[in-house]
Amino acid sequence: MLTDAPLLPDTGEPGFGLYVHWPFCAAKCPYCDFNSHVRHTPVDQQRFTQAFLKEMDTMRSLTGPRTVTSIFLGGGTPSLMDPATVEAILDGIAARWHTPAGIEVTMEANPSSVEAERFCGYRSAGVNRVSLGVQALNDRDLKFLGRLHDVADALKAIRLAREIFPRMSFDLIYARPNQTVEEWERELNEAVSYAVDHLSLYQLTIEEGTAFYGLHKAGKLIVPDGDQSAALYEATQSITEGFGMPAYEVSNHAKPGAESRHNLTYWRYGDYAGIGPGAHGRISRDRTKIATATERMPERWLEQVEANGHGMVEHEILEREEQADELLLMGLRLREGVDLARWQQLSGRFPNPAREQFLLEHGFIERLGNSRLRCTPAGMLILDAVVADLAC
Ligand code: SF4
Repeated sequence: MLTDAPLLPDTGEPGFGLYVHWPFCAAKCPYCDFNSHVRHTPVDQQRFTQAFLKEMDTMRSLTGPRTVTSIFLGGGTPSLMDPATVEAILDGIAARWHTPAGIEVTMEANPSSVEAERFCGYRSAGVNRVSLGVQALNDRDLKFLGRLHDVADALKAIRLAREIFPRMSFDLIYARPNQTVEEWERELNEAVSYAVDHLSLYQLTIEEGTAFYGLHKAGKLIVPDGDQSAALYEATQSITEGFGMPAYEVSNHAKPGAESRHNLTYWRYGDYAGIGPGAHGRISRDRTKIATATERMPERWLEQVEANGHGMVEHEILEREEQADELLLMGLRLREGVDLARWQQLSGRFPNPAREQFLLEHGFIERLGNSRLRCTPAGMLILDAVVADLAC
């Protein structure tokens, strides 16, 4: 059931976020299709830091002077960065954009790369929210997921994060092979007891190019079917709602007011600048929106930045219709849904009445007054199809 606890208010100004991508990991997880790379020799963090700062200069000239509302250090495994690297990046952002005191500064961290000393260093550098990649609370499944930590490491990391950072969240992956609803309910109930006010709960998906993809294709890895996935999803909603942490987005759950401001900027289709290998951005400029993307391969990105001041391989002006599609795609992920007036302003049209009526009648979407439209829980399960239907 969708609950209507208020989100951080949608003031119509979705904010401006800065995303910085650290592309290295200690090992490649078999399900992961993120831009993450394993290197067997130490990464030259100083050289990367200089390149981050250089690319920030280019991004600053694209965005102009703006007030940053959130910063997100993602990856890869940003907790493999030295605290001094993180400090230099955050100082670099503050030197180029207006960064009011107290804005959300999130860093992703893996339990295996966590030490109290490093956490204290990140906190001193300015990180005030940490998002831990816990992924499972049993050692058998952590091993299956290719994680380098065990449950004891995860619990230690959660405890430290709670002590050191004002805000923390952690991720779990469910819908694992042979996972029963009862097993997941037990694990999630335990997880919720460790959570503060935010959890990210993702269904395992098989992405092309991953090790799991090959196994799945060969019939050696079977994931839960549609009905089982739906049952696991419903159990997830019911348990998190029971703990006052309803979903505010397909996979993200929070107590009211504890939502990730940075991710809300994405889903409310605000602007963000992406810095680092394989980072994407959306920047409003001269009444248009520019989509940017940078070179994914870290060493190539580094050379490009050193030679040209940026690693951008994509710099495209989005047509208004494309912006409207993106707004729909992002906004329908949210419990608050999308602002139809904004969608109409961009697309220059109303949703196709016949398609909307069909989706309403079949219980996949619902209206929130005249101005907003959102997916129902049934619609969330087939979100891509709903978006495709409304956008046509
Ligand atoms: S640690 Fe995260 S980013 Fe790195 S390979 Fe695993 S899932 Fe991907």
